Amino acid sequence: MIVNMPSIPFNKPFITEKEKKYIIDILEKGKISGDGYYSKKVCQLMESLFSINKVLLTTSCSSALDMAAILLNLKDGDEVILPSYTFVSTANAVVLRGAKPVFVDIEESTLNINLMNIEQKISSRTKAIFTVHYGGISCNMNEVLEISQKYGLKVVEDAAQGVNAKYQGKYLGTFGDIGTYSFHETKNYTCGEGGALLINKDEELMKRAEIIREKGTDRSRFIRGEVDKYTWIDVGSSYLLSDILAALLYGQLERVEEIKNSRKYIFDYYYNNLADLENMEILKRQIIPKDCESNYHMFFIILNSEKEKVYLMNKLNEKGIGTASHYVPLHTSPMGIKLGYKEGDLPITEDISRRLLRLPLYIGLNEKELEYIVDSVYKVLI
Ligand SMILES: *Cc1c(COP(=O)(O)O)cnc(C)c1O
Repeated sequence: MIVNMPSIPFNKPFITEKEKKYIIDILEKGKISGDGYYSKKVCQLMESLFSINKVLLTTSCSSALDMAAILLNLKDGDEVILPSYTFVSTANAVVLRGAKPVFVDIEESTLNINLMNIEQKISSRTKAIFTVHYGGISCNMNEVLEISQKYGLKVVEDAAQGVNAKYQGKYLGTFGDIGTYSFHETKNYTCGEGGALLINKDEELMKRAEIIREKGTDRSRFIRGEVDKYTWIDVGSSYLLSDILAALLYGQLERVEEIKNSRKYIFDYYYNNLADLENMEILKRQIIPKDCESNYHMFFIILNSEKEKVYLMNKLNEKGIGTASHYVPLHTSPMGIKLGYKEGDLPITEDISRRLLRLPLYIGLNEKELEYIVDSVYKVLI
C-alpha cells in the first residue's frame, strides 16, 4: 500500500544558524534556568519593539492566561466574556479559577468576538472581557475599551496569534490591562513552547505578576538584591521560560520584520491569486480591515458548505498539500456542554467553524509550491 504523505506540510518552524548559535552560547554560559542572559535580552527587545510597559516570559501563552486569571482574582461566581471560537486555553484560564466563561458569537468579517453581542451578556457577575485577535487581526479595541470602561471590567487580550500586529498603529497585547503572547511552534515567532505576559499599566499587577510567576515568592526581588531572603507571599506556580528557549526566541525576535514580510508575501500570493474564486462566489478570503495591520499569522478561506470544505481538504491532502480547519467551538465541545451550552447557541461560530480551511503558510514555502497549491485549489473547485 502506498501511503500518500503530504509533501507540503501545513506548517514548519523557521529556524536558522542564528538560533543554534545562541543556544550553544547559553549552554556554554551555563545558566539555563529562567530570567537569565537571553530572557533579559528578549524582554528588553520586546518592550522596545512593541512599546510594552512590562514583559514577563512564561512557559506558554496558556500559562500567561492562567496568570492573568489569578491576577484578576477571578473566583467562583464570577463571569468572563470571551469568544467560543478560540483555543481552549482562553477558557481554561477562567474555568481553573472556578469562574464561568460566557461565550459570545463572532462577527463574520474578522471572526473576532462580536462587540454588538457583548453588552447583552454582561451581568452583575461579569468581571472581565478576554478578547482574542484571530489570525493576527485585531478586534476593534476602541470599542472593547469603551465597553469595559462603561461597565468597569478588566480587559485581557489573548494575543497569542497577534505578536507584531497592530491596531491603529499600536501593537496588539498593549491595549488591555493584560496581554498574552504565544511562541508555540505553530506561531510566527517561536521557541517550541513559550509565551509572555504583558502588563500594560497597573504597577500593583506588575509586582504581583512577578510573585505569581516565581511560585508565589518574592524571589525576583531577592535576585535583584532588594530583600535578603525570599519567602512565600501569594499563590503561584512555576511559570518561567528556560533561558535555553529564550536564546532560541531571541534569534527569532531579532528578525521580526523579515519574518513578517516573508509571511506577507505568501499571504498576498494567496489573496491575489484566489480572487477569481471569490468573484465566482465559490469561496471567501480572509479580510484585513483598514485599521488593522496583520502579522500574517494565517491565510484562511471560507467555503460555501462543510461538504465543500471537507472535499477540498481531502483532495488537497491527496495532492500532498497539508491544510487545517480550526477550532471546534468551545460551547459545543464536551466541556462546553458540561458548562450548560448547546448546539445552536452561537450560530455564526458554528457555521464558520464548519466551512473554514487554512492553507499552508510558513517561511520556505517557495513560488513553485505556492503555484501548485493555488492551481490545485482551482482544479478541485472548478
Ligand atoms: C496558540 C494559542 C494559545 C495557546 O498558546 P500556547 O503557547 O500553546 O499555550 C492560546 N490562545 C490562542 C488564541 C492561541 O492561538
